[in-house]
Amino acid sequence: MLLGVGGAAGGLELLSGAPALAVPAPTIASCATWGARNPSDALTILGNNPNKILIHHTATANSTDYTLAHAYALSRSIQNYHMDSNGWSDTGQHFTVSRGGFITEGRHNSLSKLTAGSGMVQGAHCPGQNDQAIGIENEGTYTSLTPPAALYNKLVDFCAYIADQYNLPATAIYGHRDFHATSCPGDAFYAMLPQLRSDVAAKLNAWSTIIDNTSAGFRASSAWLTSTYSSQRYGADYRYATPIAAGDAAYYSATLPSSGNYKVETWYPANTGYNAVTPFVVFSSAGSTTVNVNQQANGGKWVSLGTHAFSSGARDIVAVSRWTSGTQYVIADAVRVTRV
Ligand SMILES: [Zn+2]
Repeated sequence: MLLGVGGAAGGLELLSGAPALAVPAPTIASCATWGARNPSDALTILGNNPNKILIHHTATANSTDYTLAHAYALSRSIQNYHMDSNGWSDTGQHFTVSRGGFITEGRHNSLSKLTAGSGMVQGAHCPGQNDQAIGIENEGTYTSLTPPAALYNKLVDFCAYIADQYNLPATAIYGHRDFHATSCPGDAFYAMLPQLRSDVAAKLNAWSTIIDNTSAGFRASSAWLTSTYSSQRYGADYRYATPIAAGDAAYYSATLPSSGNYKVETWYPANTGYNAVTPFVVFSSAGSTTVNVNQQANGGKWVSLGTHAFSSGARDIVAVSRWTSGTQYVIADAVRVTRV
């Protein structure tokens, strides 16, 4: 009775469509956006996905020009050097991150392949790795200095996005010197790669969703009325019902990306006219657990219902029950679920 059909449709969607993206796409300026020249020769488009990310430094000046215009000028300068001095068909690396934290596409087709999460263009950034590693050039020289925070933080976001798109683990991040005799990406930057892997792993593991009473993942009978009375509400409104000794709960469902532990929280407006022992029934993989919440206090913020284990997929997470020993309204507003 407790497991409704609402979750099942979401499960089918998960199986037939792309997995939910855990990592948002950062802004990446395409070759056309920064004014790249056309490649001088046909580029090699590969059907295989990359199996790693290689970190480089450009070994150019540690510029203090942190503007977008500088990032575009840098990309044009690198392309000119690679084509005119090295005699390559196009920019060697797949992407570039400026010291101001702007990401640009390097070799043509790198961005479209990354966005699709399928295939790659063969690069020219590391002998032996060009058909299997995404090369990222980071502006600057990091033999003794470390990259500025704007660059590093954007690189973390970007590597997490690449790893998510191509289903790579955070451990698949390397320095150029790991595969070729070079000082690149500099001793100081190379020493930061364990931290980079750790920070990327944290981004990949972060997952959270909010189910409001207006979300598709919420369902309740018409006995649950709608109110905008309290300014402590989450979103436009919330639902409320009188207590009854029967099963007419308000349900919150979500599609979880993996099996494991999740923190479950609820947000409700508090009022002395609301219930002091509202039962929140959590449907964890260990069974149902009831957490009573005093909805006369702690309104207008996230209130923990504890950390619980769940299996992956579409499922009911928690329900607000009307079956309470209290006599006042029970409130169903929003629920947040966060992977921990
Ligand atoms: Zn390099």
